[in-house]
Amino acid sequence: MHQTHKALGILGGTFDPVHFGHLRMALELYEALDLAKVHIMPCFQPVHRKQPVATPEQRLAMVQSAVLDEPSLFADDREIKRKGPTYTIDTLLDMRSEMPDTPLCLLVGIDAFLGFPSWHRWKDILNYAHLIVAHRPNYQLPATGIVADLMKARLQNEIAFIHENLAGGILFRPITSLEISATDIRKQIAMGRNPRYLLPDSVYHYIKQHGTYSISRI
Ligand code: ATP
Repeated sequence: MHQTHKALGILGGTFDPVHFGHLRMALELYEALDLAKVHIMPCFQPVHRKQPVATPEQRLAMVQSAVLDEPSLFADDREIKRKGPTYTIDTLLDMRSEMPDTPLCLLVGIDAFLGFPSWHRWKDILNYAHLIVAHRPNYQLPATGIVADLMKARLQNEIAFIHENLAGGILFRPITSLEISATDIRKQIAMGRNPRYLLPDSVYHYIKQHGTYSISRI
């Protein structure tokens, strides 16, 4: 089936705070896969992990400031506006009804992909989106188990597949490996270290101005 719209990328996460690891992944996959745009989408309340330190509004504001001058990236506030526990399937249902002819691509780091079978209605997710898995160092793919079976059934090698089909494929793409983590940035700030050059200056200034990760909040 040939789609008339280019595929759209979605990079979800807590972004507590957004950093260059996230932003390079979004930009490199945008270019490599010829995506229409990448929506960077902070969740309201993550269901698989510890709750974020910064508020949803602060995490969104940091993402907005990070992508302000980059037209290929868009700060999408739909999960924050929806409130409640954030389930990706709800986001995809919402986007599919808004964009019935646009292939959707969930961009995930390999760490997130390894935990994919624990996501709410994970089998359904592949009816609404492709999964684009970005390689990160230090992660091994399993040879057996649900993730291995999923790859055998869904793996695609051609980029054309994600533009010609609305959902259902899994594609692996290498990205520049930047071992930056938000957890590490928060720890560095709490210890009084300078996190500059791990994240955009606009985000660094926002954090300084709002005392977002001061020791009392970590
Ligand atoms: P935390 O340290 O708080 O767990 P994080 O830095 O891993 O945060 P998340 O918001 O949890 O960031 O990640 C959102 C998405 O970005 C996930 O798919 C994750 O795999 C990916 N990601 C996170 N850090 C990097 C990085 N350095 N390079 C590439 N992808 C990344």
